[in-house]
Parts: sequence; structure tokens; C-alpha cells
Amino acid sequence: MSLLVKGGTIVTASDQYRGDVFVEGERITTIGTSLDLPADRVVDASGKYVLPGGIDVHTHLDMPFGGTTSADDFESGTIAAAHGGTTTVVDFAIQYKGQTLHHAWETWMKKAEGKAAIDYGFHMIVTELTDQVELEMDDLVRQGVTSFKLFMAYPGVFMLDDASIFRALLRTGKNGGTICMHAENGGVIDVLVKKALAEGKTAPKYHALTRPARAEAEATHRAIALAEIAGVPIYIVHLSAAEALEMVTEARDRGLPAYAETCPQYLFLSYDNYEEPGFAGAKYVMSPPLRPKETQDRLWRGLAFNDLQAISTDHCPFCMKEQKTLGEGDFSKIPNGAPGIETRMSLVFDGGVRGGRISLNRFVELTATSPAKIFGLFPRKGTIAPGSDADIVVFDPEKKTTLSVKTLHMKVDYNPYEGREVVGAADTVISRGRVIVDGGRFVGQAGAGAFLRRAART
Ligand SMILES: [Zn+2]
Repeated sequence: MSLLVKGGTIVTASDQYRGDVFVEGERITTIGTSLDLPADRVVDASGKYVLPGGIDVHTHLDMPFGGTTSADDFESGTIAAAHGGTTTVVDFAIQYKGQTLHHAWETWMKKAEGKAAIDYGFHMIVTELTDQVELEMDDLVRQGVTSFKLFMAYPGVFMLDDASIFRALLRTGKNGGTICMHAENGGVIDVLVKKALAEGKTAPKYHALTRPARAEAEATHRAIALAEIAGVPIYIVHLSAAEALEMVTEARDRGLPAYAETCPQYLFLSYDNYEEPGFAGAKYVMSPPLRPKETQDRLWRGLAFNDLQAISTDHCPFCMKEQKTLGEGDFSKIPNGAPGIETRMSLVFDGGVRGGRISLNRFVELTATSPAKIFGLFPRKGTIAPGSDADIVVFDPEKKTTLSVKTLHMKVDYNPYEGREVVGAADTVISRGRVIVDGGRFVGQAGAGAFLRRAART
């Protein structure tokens, strides 16, 4: 099967030029101007951008949390991702206490198998660090699960103490893995939550008011300091607070390999959303929480100046009906998370590129190239180049869409951006040489996505 993407403007993290892309089987083989090669199918990209498929390195599909499970499984979630122009996700497998990392990996492989419509990899969430687990980390790195997420929040559930965190960091210095950190001071937050509930403060907004920006900044600083002592890189997930960004910026200015991602919700929503009437604030209950509106400009600046290196979604949808309502009368019982896997590319293009905050090249870098490099997928993924996987998005920079739960494909009963108009959308999406979205319609196949063995740091 061969495919010719013709007449578009090819955009990578570094280049922008008119050209045609020829695909044979699963890979890009030739790029040139006016390629005249016979192809089984020709995709007309004139007037459109030809981008590397989006890479979302932070999703939670089919994830148990707080007595319920995130609403999208690997089928609905990856189909929604494809609609939005994302062709690779890196999800999280969870080690529960008393279980091995391999058990967790197998469990999540089964969740994805036969369901994922796009390629996927896994980070491993480590909740208990024994000698045996350290050995398992080495093996997982060899198997292509090359990153480990640790929590400084959720005491008693996910949280690791500093000694365990430090041991895990040291281990990655030996095995080439990367530590991803959920950086919030969980002990402090737990005290604030108990205090608020005792005072009868139960509404959704207290979720945000009990998770102060300084608790995120403190943990971010501590995580980076521990990584510095261990002499290894660190990646901070879902950075939301300006105070936490300052910690990353300060570390990077000293030359430390500190990396961080932020998410569209922190760029387009704010604390004000928690003040929506009744229980509506529950739509935005996620950790870390939405921050004051002024934070948005600071995060955009961080993205523009490379203090932040990636935009992922932390897609973790829960329906308002029967899921978010578990926390009616007690904000601490609202499942944490929101949908976003489908809307990332359009939101960031519209607000970032059209909004004049980042360049088109930087848009590609933040949504595909840089996460691919950090997480061992480059150059197989994350760029348009001969030899790379033919994960290609033909992106229409003029297409207007009104974001709405009625038209989006995520399996959740609300959308945090309901009614927002964005300009720029994926038109045709190609995953390893197969057209999976054609003129906005999904024509791919559940189960066609492959598990990605990622490379270790070298
Ligand atoms: Zn997450």
C-alpha cells in the first residue's frame, strides 16, 4: 500500500516548506517537491499543513480512580485522539501496593490490546519501591517501558517518601529510565482538605483552595533537588502553577536537565471555572487544580522560551452523571480529572499559533517532536522525515469548529470548553501509513494500534 500526500505545506519543529510526502507501507520513504510517483492513494493537502502526528504523553484510559473508572477506554479514547490529530499516546500503568511492576504492565497491555486505534506506550506508576521493584525497573527499561511516574501527593494511595523517590532517581542513572513526577505536597494538602471539610466547606471549589500553588512549587523544587543530588534528569508532569514554573526555570538556568509539561486546561481555563453555579465546578476538579487567570500568560511564556517542553492532556474523563456526583457534599470524593485528548491540537493551534504566542514550528515541537525526544520515540515518531513512521496529520488551519460534547467523540457527558470556537483542525489523519480519519470521519480500526517499545536515555 502506498500513499502520496500532495501539495501541502510540510511543517516540522525546524522547517516549513511546500512538498509532497510519499509513504510506502508504514513509513515515509520520500519527500520532495512535485513528486510524480504512482500511489495507491493520493491525499490532496493543498492549502493545508502536513504535520507529524500529535503525541500525547499523558493520558489515563480505562483507569480506576476513587471507586470508579475513567470514562474512555483504549478504544473510545484513541479514536477521539485520532479525530483531534493525535496518533500516539503514552498512558500510565499502575503498580498497586503488593504487586509487581510486570503485573501492572501486563494488566495495562490487556486493556489496550485489540482496542487501541493508534500506537501507544506506557509509563509505569511506581507506588512501592522494594529491592525487587528496582530490579524490575531495569527489566522494564529493556522492554521499552522507559519512564516511571512517582507521586508526591495522595498519601496512603500513590505517594512515595523522599527516600524511595531518591532511590528510584538513582536507579534511572544506571538503567537509562526517566522519572516523571506528580509534584504536589500531599501531606500538606491532606491536612488542608480535612480542615476544610471539618469547617463544612464541601463545594467543588474547595478542591482548588486546598491545593495551593505553593504546595506544587515546594514539591517541584524538592523533586528537582533530589534529581540534582542523584545526578539524573527529571520530568515534571502537568505543571500548572506560575510558582512551580519559577522552580523549573531557576533549575534550567543553572543548567540542570529539568523538564516539564503543561496541559491545555491550564492555558485556557482558570480558577473562575470553579465558581460556576451549583455543582458545575466539579467538571474542572483535577490535580493540580486550575489556577488564577494570570497564570496562563506565564505558562505561555514558559512554552515560548523552552522552560516548558511539552503540552500533554492528562486526559482522565469522568461523567458528571454518576461519577463526578460521587463528590456531591464532599469535594474530596469528586473523581479527579477531565477530558482533553481530542481537543489539544486545535486549542493549542488556535490559542498558541493564531494567538501569536508560539510559532507554528514551536507548536509542532511542543505537541509532537519534543515529547518524542524526551520519551525515546524520536525519530521514529515526532517528525516528517524519510524513515520515520508515516504518522501524518493534514491540518486545515482555517477550519472553524465549535467545541461541544455533542460533536466530540470522547465518551463523557460534558466538555470543559463547551461552546468555545477554535480555528484549525485535523482533516485527514494517517497512522503508520493507514488513513484513519478522512475528512473528519473515523475510518480506522480498533486494535490497529501497536505497543511502542521506547528507547532508554543514552
Ligand atoms: Zn495524570
